[in-house]
Amino acid sequence: MHTMSLLFNQQGQLTASTHSIDQSVVNVDEIVLFYRGQTTPIAFADLMPILTKQFRIDVDIVFRGQKYAGNVTRVTKVDGESEYIVSLKHSTDNSAAPTDKMINILDSAQIASWEWNVCSDELHVNERWANILGYTLADIVPVTYATWLSHLHPDYRPLLEQKLLAHYRGKESYFEFESPVLTHDGEWVWVKDIGRVVSRTDDGEPEWVFGARIDIHRSKMAQLELEKLQQQLDHVMELSPSVIYKMSADHNEEIRFITKGVESLLGYSPNEVIGGQHWWTSRIRHEDVKEYRRCAQSTKLRAYHPIMDCEYRFTKGNGEEVWLVDRLRYVENGDGGESYFVGSVIDLSEFVTLNQHFKTLSLLPPGIIYQFEQDAEGHMSFPYVSQEFEHIFGVSPEEAQQDAKHVFAVLHPDDESVIKKLIEQSSIEMSEMESEFRIERDGETHWYFFQAAPAKQVDGAILWSGQIIDITERKQMVLKLEKESTTDPLTGTYNRRFFMDQIKLLRELTPDHPHEFSILALDFDHFKTINDTYGHDVGDAVLKQTVHAVQPLLREPDILARMGGEEFDILLPNTSATDAMLVAERIRDTVEQNQIRHGETHLNITLTIGVVSSLQATNIPELLKLADRALYRGKEQGRNRVILASIER
Ligand code: GH3
Ligand code: MG
Ligand code: MG
Repeated sequence: MHTMSLLFNQQGQLTASTHSIDQSVVNVDEIVLFYRGQTTPIAFADLMPILTKQFRIDVDIVFRGQKYAGNVTRVTKVDGESEYIVSLKHSTDNSAAPTDKMINILDSAQIASWEWNVCSDELHVNERWANILGYTLADIVPVTYATWLSHLHPDYRPLLEQKLLAHYRGKESYFEFESPVLTHDGEWVWVKDIGRVVSRTDDGEPEWVFGARIDIHRSKMAQLELEKLQQQLDHVMELSPSVIYKMSADHNEEIRFITKGVESLLGYSPNEVIGGQHWWTSRIRHEDVKEYRRCAQSTKLRAYHPIMDCEYRFTKGNGEEVWLVDRLRYVENGDGGESYFVGSVIDLSEFVTLNQHFKTLSLLPPGIIYQFEQDAEGHMSFPYVSQEFEHIFGVSPEEAQQDAKHVFAVLHPDDESVIKKLIEQSSIEMSEMESEFRIERDGETHWYFFQAAPAKQVDGAILWSGQIIDITERKQMVLKLEKESTTDPLTGTYNRRFFMDQIKLLRELTPDHPHEFSILALDFDHFKTINDTYGHDVGDAVLKQTVHAVQPLLREPDILARMGGEEFDILLPNTSATDAMLVAERIRDTVEQNQIRHGETHLNITLTIGVVSSLQATNIPELLKLADRALYRGKEQGRNRVILASIER
């Protein structure tokens, strides 16, 4: 008894074995697995992610006190479920030849199997092999290599030969081959064959080759669809007004790719950019480079929020400097296993120009001219005002001449005290003053700007001459822009930029003895399914209505922000981890109870929440990373739960 094979299902339960094994063995956990010479055992579940990339892993095994060399192989059943074959060999035995029983296992797992004698062209296949092609076994026996070839897509025949040869010569330890095959119904179906030489002739030529065939049609179609989408995306990227670039994440900062738009937006041709080391950073204004790198690095730390916006000044091809906003993302092990940053850049200068335009507007000719006086006793009045004055303040020139208090009474209360302080300061220092102020009229807020220059009078009074300009329109636009730059248009919550600014502020205000604050990281459960089942509109309604339900649970200083997609963070100032857990639980519960309604559709959804307190980390990226990890653990543990971040791990 040299080799023993056990078949486990996805849950780790034993479903078949080559040797009758004591009934007590039912679970894979009774076999201790060691991965790649490591001294601590690896859990079966932890092997699965590795097994999605390679289909077999060599392991050391301890079973009932005996040491074995062995391997774990993944096989995919027709229904898409995976099963795992654990083979145990005595260390002295290096042959892993499948036994008849092994074939039986494959049979019972509904896997197509084949045994092929290369020398005699004898080919045995099982029922399932015939079924994949749309036949019964009886329909197609006897089977030969020619039968195999006749079903294979002609374009793939040379590749098959190549693959077989590579394996025969030992270049590949397994024969692995994906190809379309023609079924009885005249359709092409993708299959994957995996096999190996199990015996050789005396001159070392391959004799028997055993293998399995799996139907991979669905996953292959999905993969092809994905490739098509990728091509479309590339196309869209070319047309997009923003420039997208890819930069290696190592110290060379080499530009790997850039969209053609770089020509019109920044005045460089893609050819001069691609391949350049430190090309991007060397064109960022010196003072801004540090911030850019900090942004880039922090995208690396964020599993759930891998995008950062960064603003910086950048020198164009013609030497002009522009403000860019750059949406950065980190891609780990992307093409060819390389990690890189992807940046999507737009020119912010237009926004900045608009702002400058407002500034010049404010310097345009005056709306109203006035004189304002404070006499030696401190009495204030407006000796002269031009026509428009009454329209703005609702106070007649005569009333204003008598006493300035009629005018002050009209001002917004907050502004009145500010302006009175300015007057006092200006009268002491004899300096010019200027400020904005608000007046509520017809239920609307009107904004004005005033300037005034003081002059001493012979009788000890001070007389100011000045002008007032209506800046309502400009102010409304600025306020709107400010609001837009801090809020998320869909849900009306704050956006990522505002959240990050606020959290930085908290840390900066209290660097030494920080008041404890907490962060909740929220992510909707199975949101993709909601979109897929009910459509994007319902997905959007879920976001809006959930925000609506959560907002009343928060205090005034708490900040709820949409960090991207269906992920939200909440900043809770002056809140301990314990209190934050209570808030999070209340949110989780409220959301679970809250019914979402959109037209005819009614549904309930859930959230998973990661909680972290500022005492758990020394810097912000670390803090957010902990919250993300907690969230991720919550997802792993079944979702719809609140998990406190833990520092170990
Ligand atoms: P999980 O429980 O693991 O979080 O599963 P999930 O499906 O929610 O997975 P994940 O968080 O990765 O997926 C987020 C999905 O949310 C992807 C995208 O289709 C959807 N989504 C992101 N932003 C929006 C949006 O603004 N509106 C809508 N309707 N859907 C969005
Ligand atoms: Mg998500
Ligand atoms: Mg989600």
